[in-house]
This record gives sequence, structure tokens and C-alpha cells, in this order.
Amino acid sequence: APPSVSTPKVSMRKGELDARARYQKERAGAQVPLNLVVVGHVDSGKSTLMGHLLLALGQVSAKLMHKYETESKKLGKQSFALAWVLDESAEERERGITMDVGQHKFQTASKCVTLLDAPGHKDFIPHMISGAYQADVSILVVNATRGEFEAGFEMGGQTREHALLVRSLGVSQLVVAVNKLDTVGWDLARLADITAKLAHFLRQVGFKESDVVYVPCSGFTGDNLIRPSPHLSSWYTGPTLVEAIDAFKPPERLVDKPFRMFISDIYKGQASGICCAGRIESGLVLKEDKVLIMPLQEVATVKSVQQDELSVLSAFAGDHCSLVLVGPDQTSLANGMVLCDPQNPIPVTKRFEARIVIFNIDIPITKGYTVVLHYGSVQVQAVLKRLLTQIHKSTGEVIKNKPRCLTKACSAVVEVALDTPICLETYSHIRELGRFMLRNGGKTIAAGVVTKIL
Ligand code: GDP
Repeated sequence: APPSVSTPKVSMRKGELDARARYQKERAGAQVPLNLVVVGHVDSGKSTLMGHLLLALGQVSAKLMHKYETESKKLGKQSFALAWVLDESAEERERGITMDVGQHKFQTASKCVTLLDAPGHKDFIPHMISGAYQADVSILVVNATRGEFEAGFEMGGQTREHALLVRSLGVSQLVVAVNKLDTVGWDLARLADITAKLAHFLRQVGFKESDVVYVPCSGFTGDNLIRPSPHLSSWYTGPTLVEAIDAFKPPERLVDKPFRMFISDIYKGQASGICCAGRIESGLVLKEDKVLIMPLQEVATVKSVQQDELSVLSAFAGDHCSLVLVGPDQTSLANGMVLCDPQNPIPVTKRFEARIVIFNIDIPITKGYTVVLHYGSVQVQAVLKRLLTQIHKSTGEVIKNKPRCLTKACSAVVEVALDTPICLETYSHIRELGRFMLRNGGKTIAAGVVTKIL
């Protein structure tokens, strides 16, 4: 079903009714946009799996694949040819790792999926933040090879941390790809064992059992990616990976909330005007609209709305687009600023309350602890000003008031003070603009959502 767009009672801008009607019509029967982030321990096979999936879905030309195969052979790294579909730069290839969050698209019967690739290498976690941020849903890849699943799942492994991370950023639907099953002879008992261990853990971090699907597969051989596998047919009746992705429930698009768009790229347009690219987090924008740039507090006029290089009349929550703005000076704009409705601007603040989940930290967090807050593409110095309550991880019940310290794997409500003010929303109002991560000394120590702006 297309997302419903009700007609607001308050006065509407010229052209808005038309735009809404067009939106309804276009979305009826169209594929639902879905942002997917792939997480999991290093070497669990994320790149190979997604590369193979793109290839199987016809997203990679035979010519390009041939090139990857020849090049990888030359370097003696044949097994990486499939992963190269995702790794764009030569530097990444030479090192055999995925460094940046690349974007790829593919389609299933009902979804148009934007794939945000999240590398598992420890050094590159900052890059993963931008992927996990925009995610509606996630695939957690685990390696079924004996000893490898265990290495990824135990302390120091990234399986738990990544699952916790996406959950604390608000992702509630998960597909677990139990990958590399070819290395254990497609053993049902191995799958059952891994599933049981993960199910227990995922419940603990707050995933509902009905929102998690386990898909046995091999990214290397391609089994059970888009077609049922003969290796599994004697005992497996569940979905293929593509079917599992297709079955994700469509995310809610906040078309009826005030207009908000994070600027993720700024460039000079062809005519006069500056192009600001990004994703609309809420509301809608029409050509000729006035938008307020925050926290700059300058008003600009939208000269043109562009999607996939084409000029359109309007764009809606969930759409990636570029707006050509007239008014502001290019030098005063920066990535991470927010374009919003001048009648209903986004709050700008230096203090807020948040519910956070603490990761695997060595030293307990006490009042006054300093961190770097990562929010979209914004990074700001911050202090945990007050520790208000320690709460139960999945129920949210208060366990302790004013805890003296917070230790690893606990959840809490805290007050955060920032060095410089940023645009922020509560998670309950606009989910996408109310989630953040906290890092310290190059390590992600917590992720959370904004509960109150102070
Ligand atoms: P990433 O770090 O999670 O992105 O993992 P890669 O996709 O780079 O894969 C790591 C290694 O595992 C590479 O040598 C792959 O060829 C290998 N690999 C990936 N998937 C499979 C699989 O399903 N079966 C087997 N046998 N090997 C795999």
C-alpha cells in the first residue's frame, strides 16, 4: 500500500494539493524506497554477499564483472572479485577492504532498495555511522564457519556491537544472513545452533522475535540469494535473501510532518543558484518554496527540485533529491545544515536529554564524561552533564535513579551538553533527526535517541 498522505486542515501552499495528489498516484503500485544497511563482523562475507546479490539481480554488467575477475586474478585475490562490485576505489581493492559507505541500488518485487554498505573493519567504523544512520532496516551477516561465528559473537567480535548499534539507532527489522554455510556442508544443526544463540541475544537487545528472519546462504556460491538452493531443499522452507528483503515492512514516511532535509552535499549549479543534495527526512518541498537554512537562519528560495538529474515539481519524505537554492552565499553553507519549513523551523540546541545504550567499554562512564557526538555528518564535542536514570534495556523501566556511573551494555537516560548548538528533533517527533552516536578515543561508546530538547 502507498503511504497515506492526509490533507492537512491548515492552509496549503499553492500547488501543494496537486503535489499530494500526484504523490498518491505515483506511489500506488510503485516500489517502496527502503534504506538497507549491511552490518557484521569483519570477513563475515558482507561485501561478497551483497556483490553477488547485485550481480544475480542483473545490476552488474558481464563486462564489468569480467574486468573485476581479470584484475583480481592479476593481484592473486580471485576470491575478492565479487566483493569488488561494492568496493569502488583502487586503494580499497589493494588492501582488500571496504572503506567508505558506497551506495548501490537494486529492486525487489515491492521495494526499491538503497544499499548502504557498512564495512566491518574496526579502523573504519566512522564511515559506518553514516550508513547506519540512514537505515530503515538491516541485514546482519554472520559467518557459519566453525570457530568463525564464535569469534565474531564473543567479546571483541563485532556481531553483538553492530546488532546493538542498529537497534539503538531505531532499526527494528532485521534479516540475519547465516552466511558461508557451504563451509559446513549445509549442516542444519549448525544453522539451528547459530540461530538459537543469536535469537537469545537479539531478544535481549530489544528485537522482537517476529521482526527477525534467519536466512541460510552462501554469498560465495550464490546459494539461496535469489533462488532456493538444492543444498537446502531437504529441510529449509524459508525465504531466499531477496524474498526476505522484499518482506520487510515499509518504513513510515513522515510526509505530514514539517519539511526537513539534511544537506549532505553542496555544489555550484549550472545556472545561478547553489545545489544542495540530501534526503528529505520529513514533509514535502515544492518548486518556488521558501526554505529556512538552520542553524544559519537564512531564508532561500527553491528554484528547482531535481531527482535523478531530472527537474520535478515536488519531492517528499524519503526521497533523495537536489534543491537549487537562490539567496544564500555558497561559502556560508555547510554539510550537516538542515533545510526546513520557515513557519515551523527545526529546534537548534546545545542541551538535550537522551536514551542511550552503552557499548563494550573498559572504563565506566561518570558525570562530566567527554565525548564526540556524531549526528548525520555533524561532529560536535559534548559532555555527559548528568546521568539521570539507568533503565532496563528492552522494557525501559527505571532500574536506578541518578546512577553514579554507567558500565558496559547498560541503558540510561542522560543529559548531554554540546560545545556548539546543532539542529535536533526528538526521536518521537522525527525519528531520522533524533538519533546519534557517541565516540571517545576513536571508539564508538554509545548510541541513542533524543527524548527531550532543553
Ligand atoms: P567482509 O569483510 O564482511 O566484507 O567480507 P568479504 O566479503 O570481504 O569476504 C571475506 C572472505 O570470505 C573473502 O575471502 C571471501 O571470498 C570469503 N567468503 C565470503 N563469503 C563466502 C561464502 O559464502 N563462502 C565461502 N566459502 N567463502 C566466503
